[in-house]
Amino acid sequence: MKSIQIAIDGPASSGKSTVAKIIAKDFGYTYLDTGAMYRCATYLALKNGLTNQDVPKILAELANHPISFGKAADGTALVFLGDCDVSLAIRQNVVTNNVSWVSAIPEIREELVAQQRRIAAEGGIVMDGRDIGTVVLPDAELKIFLVASVEERALRRFKENQEKGILTDLETLKEEIVARDFKDSHREVSPLKPAEDSITFDTTGVSIDGVVQFISEKAKEILDK
Ligand code: C5P
Repeated sequence: MKSIQIAIDGPASSGKSTVAKIIAKDFGYTYLDTGAMYRCATYLALKNGLTNQDVPKILAELANHPISFGKAADGTALVFLGDCDVSLAIRQNVVTNNVSWVSAIPEIREELVAQQRRIAAEGGIVMDGRDIGTVVLPDAELKIFLVASVEERALRRFKENQEKGILTDLETLKEEIVARDFKDSHREVSPLKPAEDSITFDTTGVSIDGVVQFISEKAKEILDK
């Protein structure tokens, strides 16, 4: 059966991973959370007290602790570094607030993009991130760029954090989201931006189901062609 590549990019907390997971499940495709991979590299850097002057050491840490994905019994996505479950550790504020400097390192991106392309080569995929439509999968049949107001994105992240038991305050979250988007969009390598052939969709005030339906219809149109 024909399968396609679906690239979903957008700024922090624009709802990418929530909808990407549902679409992947509905279409029987693999879902890849590329943000989790940059978070893993950041976690390793911080754990070992490394900075952007220690790129070979961060790469060695990544090679010694391969990133893999799994599922808990209740279906929750799990992220591993070697044998270690880091699903919660990579969502902590300290990782979130350091990920932009790690993800701006060209050698780290090169390594993680190579891993992402290898996973995509296995079949139908829904991948979310910042540079999927522009760099990782430039030939993806469907490219979506999700945006939403800062207020709504901060509120979403606030609720997500609450569910995970991570304490944050809404105003701080807003400031952090704006700062991270700025760094992600202004870095030299693979900045956050919509691919020329992507469809931008504003999810402010739109339900998860509404976003899923929009993307699924576009995917079905391509598959029925
Ligand atoms: O999607 P998430 O918020 O988990 O991504 C964490 C960070 O990883 C982003 O802020 C960005 O710096 C980096 N990232 C990236 N390229 C991707 C995915 C994420 O640079 N494809």
